[in-house]
Amino acid sequence: MTTDPRETTGRPAPQGSRIDPYVDSYAARAQGMVASEVRALFAVASRPEVVSLAGGMPNVSALPLEEMGDIVRRVTTEQGATALQYGSAQGDPALRERICEVMALEGIDASAEDVIVTVGSQQALDLVTRVFIDPGDVVLAEAPTYVTAINTFAAFQADIQHVAMDEEGVLPEALEERLTALAAAGRRAKFFYTVPNFQNPAGVTLTAGRRRRVLEICRRHGLLVLEDNPYGLLRYEGEAERALRADAPDNVIYLGSFSKTLSPGFRIGWALAPSAVRAKLVLAAESAMLSHSTFNQLVVGRYLAEHPWREQIKEFNEMYRERRDAMLASLEAMMPPGTSWTRPEGGFFVWVTLPEGLDAKAMLPRAVGERVAYVPGTGFFASDEGHRNMRLSFCYPTPAQIREGVRRLVGVIENEAALRDTFGTTPAPPAPGGDAPTPDLP
Ligand code: PMP
Repeated sequence: MTTDPRETTGRPAPQGSRIDPYVDSYAARAQGMVASEVRALFAVASRPEVVSLAGGMPNVSALPLEEMGDIVRRVTTEQGATALQYGSAQGDPALRERICEVMALEGIDASAEDVIVTVGSQQALDLVTRVFIDPGDVVLAEAPTYVTAINTFAAFQADIQHVAMDEEGVLPEALEERLTALAAAGRRAKFFYTVPNFQNPAGVTLTAGRRRRVLEICRRHGLLVLEDNPYGLLRYEGEAERALRADAPDNVIYLGSFSKTLSPGFRIGWALAPSAVRAKLVLAAESAMLSHSTFNQLVVGRYLAEHPWREQIKEFNEMYRERRDAMLASLEAMMPPGTSWTRPEGGFFVWVTLPEGLDAKAMLPRAVGERVAYVPGTGFFASDEGHRNMRLSFCYPTPAQIREGVRRLVGVIENEAALRDTFGTTPAPPAPGGDAPTPDLP
């Protein structure tokens, strides 16, 4: 008698568990694709009684919905034969022309030939990583950095190395030091990933002086810059900075998006890259998704052609400025001593540093219990950092909700500090485990 199931079923014996019979079949790169243990908490955090300062959802309620509906109808009735057909992987040429007009606002002089439309700038991040990164290749990124960029780099098994930043953005000397150390070890980085405006999660903006130095260092070391700029036009005070790409067209891949200046629902972003790189990105996009949603591109193209979109951004900015001001004033008025935070001139996020001895991730279940949510800082690092940090977003809740959310949060922090003072430590989180990146909710 045999016990080998192949002889009775014709199939190899399953090696995996009953929950996931394919657990032994995944590619090595899939091992890093794990859900965060705080994900379950965020299901609770989306209940109406919770003030969520966690998600980065743009407030699309300010959009002219009647007009959007009219554009959608006319794209269908007047351009249906094109809109409902396959398109190209590089994207609609008319939309790419419009994208060049948007980028001109930040000093970029580009040809539509070098633009590739992507499914949000997130797909551009994926395509660039796919084209450049082999397992073990070094990617440099600010500390902290955008969580889903970390996930993307990790999915391609990059060696993510952080470069320190402060209130003025990345520290040029830290970048130089890291590049010199890599060279001394016979290694080099493939690219430096930066979110130079109103960074996600830190809210800080790279100053003009530092932009020059960063570009000079990267040029000298032959390092490609990946400039991710979804928030640049959402400025509530101060002067717009020139894009890095504006001053270094051959050394920078620039990523843009309509998710924050129009709507994330269309999923339209783009990459502007030196021609040879752009050609590779188009081929990678073809294998990823064949062609774009022609329909969505035509709708966004018409919106840009017919609607005063610059005015619409101004309107968004007034709404977000009021919310940012509510957030900063509440923090100023209520936060306990020993807490500090950044003061963003635009974008969606404030980065808070808690008093010594407190851990934002450990504290999150108690915060959700008090009906306020935030994203703990640990998710924004590839290494074990950020325990004293949290990201607060002010884009979605109203000013009154923001004030109430901060009030609740301050109560939680004060309780936490009292526990620390009494017991010398604070309770551990209820579900310890792998320190997987936190989802960038929504
Ligand atoms: N980059 C950064 C820094 C972001 O914050 C986001 C959205 N949270 C993205 C890229 C991706 O945005 P989208 O794909 O919607 O363009």
